[in-house]
Amino acid sequence: MPNEILKTVIIGSGPAGLTAAIYAARAALKPVILAGNTPGGQLTKTSEVENYPGFAKGINGPDLMFAMMDQAKHCGAELMYENAESIDAKTTPITITYGGGKKLLTHTLIFATGAAPRMIGLPGETQFSPPLGTGVTSCAVCDGSFYRKMPVVVVGGGDSAMEEANYLAKMCSSVTLVHRREEFRASKIMIERAKANPVIKWELNQVVEEVLGDTTKKVPLVTGVRLRNVLNGTKKDLQVAALFVAIGHIPTTSVLKGQVDLDEEGYIKVNDKQETSAVGVYAAGDCHDRRYRQAITAAGMGCKAALEVERYLTHHGIA
Ligand code: NAP
Repeated sequence: MPNEILKTVIIGSGPAGLTAAIYAARAALKPVILAGNTPGGQLTKTSEVENYPGFAKGINGPDLMFAMMDQAKHCGAELMYENAESIDAKTTPITITYGGGKKLLTHTLIFATGAAPRMIGLPGETQFSPPLGTGVTSCAVCDGSFYRKMPVVVVGGGDSAMEEANYLAKMCSSVTLVHRREEFRASKIMIERAKANPVIKWELNQVVEEVLGDTTKKVPLVTGVRLRNVLNGTKKDLQVAALFVAIGHIPTTSVLKGQVDLDEEGYIKVNDKQETSAVGVYAAGDCHDRRYRQAITAAGMGCKAALEVERYLTHHGIA
């Protein structure tokens, strides 16, 4: 029905979007999810997930996301494997353009597109990242315990890098923090905490030039990194089991530019009800959350957004 006005559309199919879909479907809101052409979000690029409650022995990231998708469909959500191309959230109903000019009209929108970790841009980052390989990651909380008692490298000079290094220092045999300058972007307390940790070593004015690894294995794995000193060009290899890239995230929000308030880095501004600055538009998960970035927190925000959508529609006599 091209002119039908939907009760709610969810953009994004990670834990936030799919949890919102489960709640909205169970509230009989008949949600339509624009799931993108690689549905499931960041967790589909992870191997074992050991910190999502309910799985005593952990669960494979893609399996968890496929289970959430099945659950959303079982509850009555409709998944479309399409990307939103543009959004007009300033008119009523909200208009979403996808698939080369097709339109969806909706009373409410839950935006849950996540954020992508910024990567250095080395060929080895893809080759040794799940699902192709193992050893390159951007989440210490997710993957740190796979490198227990092993040496690892963290790249970055912000709070994330300090936090990741401190977290990994609890379990890894050594953590080498590689940063391209001598000054840090991180807050003083985070730097001091990391500097006080004897497990953490420092390689400053250095960049990772190459990820070294064993590609003869069925799943290629990292064996080290090649560093280049940016001041004098000298190179050296470090033997490590993993490279943790902590150089920031890029929220996937470009399609909302000019439609809702974003902060200076593109994260969506929301209030404690997940409401954005546009009426009827809600955001959940990493596209607005730069602090926690966990599957479970994203799922919680998706739940909140769907409950608020239901209240909004009821208040306006639509649901
Ligand atoms: P960030 O503050 O933007 O820092 C990114 C770091 O990565 C910078 O040191 C930057 O180097 C480096 N970098 C960027 N691109 C690089 C590249 N291509 N190669 C090598 N290094 C590169 O990002 P963040 O650390 O993720 O923090 C983001 C925000 O979240 C901040 O506001 C932070 O305070 C907050 N946060 C807070 C906490 C906490 O309070 N517990 C924890 C995590 C994050 P340069 O400095 O040379 O540009």
